[in-house]
Amino acid sequence: MSGGHWVIRIRKPDAVPEKLAQDGKNKRRAHSAAYSRDPEAYQSGKKTFSFASSIYAHESVKQALIVAQRQKCCFCERLIGTDGDVEHFRPKQAYKQALGEPMQRPGYYWLAYEWDNLYLSCPSCNQRHKQNLFPLQNPAERATDHKQPIEREQPLFIDPGKEDPEAFIGFRGEIAFAIDGSQKGQATIDSLKLNQRSLPGARLQRLQLLRELDNVIKLAADRPDDDKFQEQAKKAKDLLERAIQDDAEFSAAARWAIRTNFEFVLG
Ligand SMILES: [Zn+2]
Repeated sequence: MSGGHWVIRIRKPDAVPEKLAQDGKNKRRAHSAAYSRDPEAYQSGKKTFSFASSIYAHESVKQALIVAQRQKCCFCERLIGTDGDVEHFRPKQAYKQALGEPMQRPGYYWLAYEWDNLYLSCPSCNQRHKQNLFPLQNPAERATDHKQPIEREQPLFIDPGKEDPEAFIGFRGEIAFAIDGSQKGQATIDSLKLNQRSLPGARLQRLQLLRELDNVIKLAADRPDDDKFQEQAKKAKDLLERAIQDDAEFSAAARWAIRTNFEFVLG
């Protein structure tokens, strides 16, 4: 059993999809050159980049992400199959350090077609991200053009392709919490509204079912000679084991529920 909690640790294949490696790379070069010619125009918003979703959201890119993310939204762990949107971890057009602060331009235009910067999210999580929020622990170290390294940045959002969400976010029943008050965990929970929308209700429904499966297994332990009951218990065990695999919906919350013996799963 491995992986994260609110979301699974995502391992993308090293091979960059051809579309990004070719067309994406050319676009990146063109955007960078355009910016260098007239940085002020892009900073003021007088000029904006027009990004080609036909490249970054190309079917081949989307398919590779679907496989890497096991058909789940990378933020909320809902099963999305092919319904997801290709999303940029670092916003491509503009960004905000905090809600209520002005939009800063340009965004991370040079990462618009970067494999590392792309994820698949459900339409609901995608709406959240459209606010262009991208807070850093150290705003002074922000990379503001293609010549500056992003490695110095310390994003307050968990990057599920680079770090294990397990270190930052846990679950008490259906409710996500920041482990040891982690600022990164809390910022991610708040900005993505992981304890709002329909998420807690959907998680709870799943956890209650898993708890009942667990009850069957426990009851069967007291009746080793009842073959029918043992057979049921075996099925329950199989289902419970399936529910904590990375490709199962809400597997992170399920793992926590089992680890805490369903203590926080009420109702
Ligand atoms: Zn989602």
